[in-house]
Amino acid sequence: MKITDLIVTPIAFDDPPLLNAAGLHAPYALRIIIEIKTDENISGIGEIAGGSAALESLNQAKAFLIGMDPFERNRIRIAIEKGFEGVKDTMNVGYAPKNVANRIYSALNIALLDLCGKAVEKPVCDLIGGRVRDRIDFSAYLFYKYEGAGGRFGMGKDAHDPEAIGWHKFKEQQFLTPEEVVEEAKAMCQEFGFKSLKLKGGVFEPQVESDTVIALSKAFGKDTPIRIDPNACWTLETSVEYGKILEPYLEYYEDPCKGQEAMAELGRLVSIPRATNMCTTSFDEIPSAIKLGSEDIILADPHYWGGIEATMQLGKICAVFGRKLSMHSNSHLGISLMAMAHLGVACPEISYAMDTHYPWQKDEVIKCGRLKFDDGAIVVSNEPGLGVELDYDALERLHQNYLKCGYTERNDEIEMQKVVPGWTVKDHIF
Ligand SMILES: [Mg+2]
Repeated sequence: MKITDLIVTPIAFDDPPLLNAAGLHAPYALRIIIEIKTDENISGIGEIAGGSAALESLNQAKAFLIGMDPFERNRIRIAIEKGFEGVKDTMNVGYAPKNVANRIYSALNIALLDLCGKAVEKPVCDLIGGRVRDRIDFSAYLFYKYEGAGGRFGMGKDAHDPEAIGWHKFKEQQFLTPEEVVEEAKAMCQEFGFKSLKLKGGVFEPQVESDTVIALSKAFGKDTPIRIDPNACWTLETSVEYGKILEPYLEYYEDPCKGQEAMAELGRLVSIPRATNMCTTSFDEIPSAIKLGSEDIILADPHYWGGIEATMQLGKICAVFGRKLSMHSNSHLGISLMAMAHLGVACPEISYAMDTHYPWQKDEVIKCGRLKFDDGAIVVSNEPGLGVELDYDALERLHQNYLKCGYTERNDEIEMQKVVPGWTVKDHIF
């Protein structure tokens, strides 16, 4: 079997005004859908974070794929690594991988595994060693949020696209106080069955966010695991102060402060497990992470770490060095959810409910439409590949969204400045 084409399609879908340490989600989230085609009429699909740099790199990657056998994933990976050697990633997020090859191969690896699975009529989890469980739990990803459901420039319910429903129950609602976030959490857990809570912090004064965690704990009880992720915008001093307050309430403490050294120092002063998807984001950073002791849990992501197979290898490294493993997420659709789920059922080292932004979206690019959580988990079937197929009509509609929406890069800081003039990430330190 030979690869004959790589089709790269940028898309945009409605995204509600969710707040984070980098600012505010734009009314549209950008993703790129890829399809690898072969001379045997079997194809594989993948999905990664959007943006013009990734788009350009994926189009360049085509030259390395054509004529290759999709089962020769190691050869393809090496060709991509050589082809993009030294090229810096310009993705506008702090946790982006440090080289383009890694991110581009991540996307290709997911699509190649889907393709190979479809060719041998086996699910992706069977190609990476087989499942150790049939279902994988996800957590409720809680955000402070302005009113609106996304889909148009501007703020407020009148400025947002009335057709955009996002997470439909709460399109008009804001979640800005501890009490409102408790309401959000209750509704999300009731609808999707999640049993763990993650609060995206780094938005308000740490006292407000600490109060939110405590309010969640009081509302849900001690048996519900809770995490907070201030996205490294707290100083070490603040992280220690609030870490001590939050010790009785947190399952883990995700990236409160910035960098491996600060996270390592935090570990000496606070006894909650520390998790990261910011200070240790690639294999290159593991030696210093181990030397310093910068985290207890790595929040992997098959879209950044080099794909599903590389994340399986990361699991083994984590086990060797006494780290635990869970999963980071960005705004995404169902192809990514299934890539995460196949990894989740196959990787024995994953030991926490994984993150997902999926409940916040309503759009889809797959034929079966929106995927369903079963009591907070995704059940992985024996369908070949990732178990989902592209819906070409939906793909075209979301591609037209991309062409019309005017966004070509994610920039939460600029979105935030539309609400709070002069707001900067640089000055947003507590
Ligand atoms: Mg994080």
